[in-house]
Amino acid sequence: MTDIKGKDADFDPTAPDARPQARSAEPVVATGASLSGTPLHKSPLPKTLLPDHTVARFAHVDTWVFDLDNTLYPAGSDLWPKIDARITHFLAELFGLDGLSSRALQKYYYQRYGTTLRGLMEEHEISSDEFLAFVHDIDRSSLMPNHSLAKAITELPGRKLILTNGSREHALRTAEKLGIHEMFEDIFDIVAADLVPKPAAETYQRFFDRHAVEPARAAMFEDISHNLVVPHARGMVTTLVVPKAGQEDHREPWEIAGANAAHVEFVTNDLEGFLAGLIGPG
Ligand SMILES: [Mg+2]
Repeated sequence: MTDIKGKDADFDPTAPDARPQARSAEPVVATGASLSGTPLHKSPLPKTLLPDHTVARFAHVDTWVFDLDNTLYPAGSDLWPKIDARITHFLAELFGLDGLSSRALQKYYYQRYGTTLRGLMEEHEISSDEFLAFVHDIDRSSLMPNHSLAKAITELPGRKLILTNGSREHALRTAEKLGIHEMFEDIFDIVAADLVPKPAAETYQRFFDRHAVEPARAAMFEDISHNLVVPHARGMVTTLVVPKAGQEDHREPWEIAGANAAHVEFVTNDLEGFLAGLIGPG
């Protein structure tokens, strides 16, 4: 993990190449059917099966931006349920609520404000440090190193960054367990975002500025469709990461929806296979 790069003094959001780009391809699902309707093989997707125009769509990309939770590790992992339970626990203790009431309040905050923390900040005065440390204090022993993902990320040409609504410490610990932490230049977390979560446009702008990211030369990988709205509008190549068929999915229905939205350019249920396909044979 290197130091944060200098601020981007040159970025001009009104520049022609910062404008949204037309969709160059229909969404590509890594398993199921290809664009031509030809059934593809079960995942992992052989890297050569990515259509040429998909690979070409990423040819200009020099900055690769990844969400963390349920993107760099599968939505079927038990990590997110553990964090979710810690959030419920935090609210229960803070307000003296039973589990069901605490859960309901948590969902209310999450849907209204984007994160429970944001709801707590808006409606109550709580310590964000205390909240973030508490909810991310989880057992990550179920997470195994993902060597193929590490290899694929390593071979992507350019810079790699994590953009997460979680904490830096959580992202770092999780990336270490996956064996991918050394591939990333830095982590932009919810504290760096001034506690304003994705999908707020100001958070992406803050991220672009902090890390001197030119969005028209960047790609974003995310498991929540609406977190790709702003990236797409800013000219990033957007890819929605979805669970494999039959894989357990701990996310809410509203988080899963939106795969067919116009702001989602590509869809994959095999992130490492998709990335490997972009790199090409070798
Ligand atoms: Mg996520």
